Amino acid sequence: VSAHNKSGFALANHELNAAFVERLDLENRLRRAIHRGELSVVYQPKINLGRGQISEAEALVRWNDPDIGMIPPSRFIAIAENAGLIGLLGAYILTTACQEAVSWGHDTRGASTVAVNVSAIQLQDPGFPDTVRKALADTGLSPENLILEVTESAVMDDTDIVLPNMRAIATMGVRFAIDDFGTGYSNFDNLRRLPIHSLKIDKRFVDQITENQNDARICQAMIALGRALNLVVVAEGVETHEQSLFLKAYGCDQLQGFYFSRPLNRVEFREFVEARNSQ
Ligand code: C2E
Ligand code: CA
Ligand code: CA
Ligand code: CA
Repeated sequence: VSAHNKSGFALANHELNAAFVERLDLENRLRRAIHRGELSVVYQPKINLGRGQISEAEALVRWNDPDIGMIPPSRFIAIAENAGLIGLLGAYILTTACQEAVSWGHDTRGASTVAVNVSAIQLQDPGFPDTVRKALADTGLSPENLILEVTESAVMDDTDIVLPNMRAIATMGVRFAIDDFGTGYSNFDNLRRLPIHSLKIDKRFVDQITENQNDARICQAMIALGRALNLVVVAEGVETHEQSLFLKAYGCDQLQGFYFSRPLNRVEFREFVEARNSQ
């Protein structure tokens, strides 16, 4: 082995160690933050087409580490999954979101329904229906005011546990949305058999809708499919007025995106909804 190779190996090894140590540090910080209740949840309104009112929001978790700053969920959800922390984290997010939705519901002009993202690992846990039941019981949220957003791939992953779990939860009156629709592989038979209430068209199809005719046709086809199956169709990642006009013309039921509002903390969310719903 040449000296050059030796040092090359040592460097790679050192980098691997650094990445490992960083990951372990994040994992420990995340574990501590979950136990101390330091994560928060923000809410992004879903705009009902028609009267333009807001009855629902998507809950999105936020983690602000005192030393590192904001760490995006795209980064730490995977860490939580690998570290065996997603059950604990998911239950915390679910309970927080249910509790906060109960408080908006007291206001007649407020929104009543919250949609919570659920990871594939949570959905595959035989104890998950009990976690949902407990969150509803502890907070007093009506099951019909809870939506669980699950991705296509999570649902198709391990149907032996996922299907019975979804059916048990649907029996409570909780509804399901298929998230990031169009990005996984859709098994149309499963779409038909699953207790699904809505489809969320992924942002990547919405992005180029006004410029790219193929993307526009794909959006149109997905919206038509959803409507044919009697599902509520939601488009995410709407950033411009033009995009909203296209999606409205294609028959979308609800729109969500920065054009209407960024995710808001619970106080901002209540104010936003009250102002908008009293127009
Ligand atoms: P997602 O479920 O597809 O959520 C939509 C993401 O797009 C959110 O990012 C939201 O802030 C962002 N977004 C909404 N409108 C716009 C827009 O108009 N333009 C742009 N550029 N972005 C927009 P966020 O909060 O960073 O979440 C990223 C992903 O992390 C989520 O994708 C979801 O897969 C996951 N995630 C977030 N919160 C949770 C959670 O509480 N539990 C679980 N299991 N996953 C979560
Ligand atoms: Ca989502
Ligand atoms: Ca998405
Ligand atoms: Ca997603």
